Amino acid sequence: MNQTNLIKPVLDHEYPLITHGKGIYLYDEQGKQYIDGSSGAVTASIGHGVQEIIDAMAEQSKKVSFVYRSQFSTEAAEKLAKKISEISPGDLNWSFFVNSGSEATETAMKVAIQYWQEKGMKTKNKIISRWMSYHGITMGALSMSGHITRRQLFEPMLEKYPSVSAPYYYRDAAHKTIEECDDFYAQELEKAILRAGKDNVAAFIAEPMIGAAGGALIPSDQYFQKMKAVCDEYDVLFIADEVMTGMGRTGKMFGMEHFNVIPDIMATGKGMSAGYTPMAATIVSEKVMEPILNGSKIIMSGHTFSANPQSAATSLAVLNYIEKNNLVENSARMGAYLKEKINELARTSEIIGDVRGKGLFVGIEFVKDKLTKKSFARELDVVNKIVQLNFDEGLLVYPANAGAEGLTGDAVILSPPLTITKEEVDELVRRFAMALGKVERELLGELSK
Ligand code: PMP
Repeated sequence: MNQTNLIKPVLDHEYPLITHGKGIYLYDEQGKQYIDGSSGAVTASIGHGVQEIIDAMAEQSKKVSFVYRSQFSTEAAEKLAKKISEISPGDLNWSFFVNSGSEATETAMKVAIQYWQEKGMKTKNKIISRWMSYHGITMGALSMSGHITRRQLFEPMLEKYPSVSAPYYYRDAAHKTIEECDDFYAQELEKAILRAGKDNVAAFIAEPMIGAAGGALIPSDQYFQKMKAVCDEYDVLFIADEVMTGMGRTGKMFGMEHFNVIPDIMATGKGMSAGYTPMAATIVSEKVMEPILNGSKIIMSGHTFSANPQSAATSLAVLNYIEKNNLVENSARMGAYLKEKINELARTSEIIGDVRGKGLFVGIEFVKDKLTKKSFARELDVVNKIVQLNFDEGLLVYPANAGAEGLTGDAVILSPPLTITKEEVDELVRRFAMALGKVERELLGELSK
């Protein structure tokens, strides 16, 4: 067993050792090549080994790698804050830098609570979230998450925040129109607020498109407008968790831009530094900052590494690279092509029930029966089987399964770097099709036993 296994969360699993990466490819010590079809955890969005980023990192480290945020500011952090304000919609002009998506959503939750405190509404401190959601692994972020497998061990210590359904038309729209589904989801939110008491609810948090807990579940064009209207009616802030969907992943800079709704607070991470270094942010609107700036003047949160200059310079270089190379547009174009190719496979596949997504954020749900949409039994561990068989073919795919039998399905996400070319998509799909054939033979053989 190699030593690094000691710090791995899964102690019985030996991972191949990666020696280097270039573009959409990763290479292990045996010389095996992998297409990073998931960008790791939907993170490495400009691909691996980009010289420009490496240069920017080196440049910053020659200047200064660390100062403490409450002693000094840096050019890197200030430029990054300005850049984020420019690319963010509406009056989302203030950035609070953290180091992970979990910290970004947890800070968003705290900012929402602080906003109401500063306005003298001391009881507005509950957050409403959705079943089928993932907002992070720290206790506050996990409290907001409806990801059952990740909650299970800690359930007694968590707040009971998830209270409403997430849009899941593949299953919910069987006997209803999309419009009726959306009305139902909005009514559920209204009831949840009324049940908690509007004076006790600080915010509603949602991923624009659901990642880890659902497999790129996409709402209708109207869904968020209806949900935001309920938030507005009851003075509840709206937090968009853009950790997975932000920075071009879905074919727009931010996922919410597809729906013409401007959040009060946004959380971002992952693609913000494309994995070159840890960096994430909570982006706050002028409206939310106003009572804070007129009151205690600081956001009551922060970490030692917040606004780390090394990470700020890296993230700035990544955002400039995305812009300069039109990667948001490429995400929209290549995403549409990838989805079309997967849809072609789905037509003849016996187990692909649903293909969904926007941009290079494509979800594929697997079912035992395409007609009834019945999922495979949990013991079959279908998602992990699919991930492993793709891995064997040299393709990384991202598992998405929130672990609630009968409620959530078995899905994977394809989310390659936004730099991907048409030829590379073709090769990705070829490998996926090979793995799919094996998955089908294995699963259908399993079922006929
Ligand atoms: N929010 C969303 C939507 C995510 O997808 C994730 C990570 N999968 C997180 C928050 C947590 O981010 P991190 O793992 O960087 O803490």
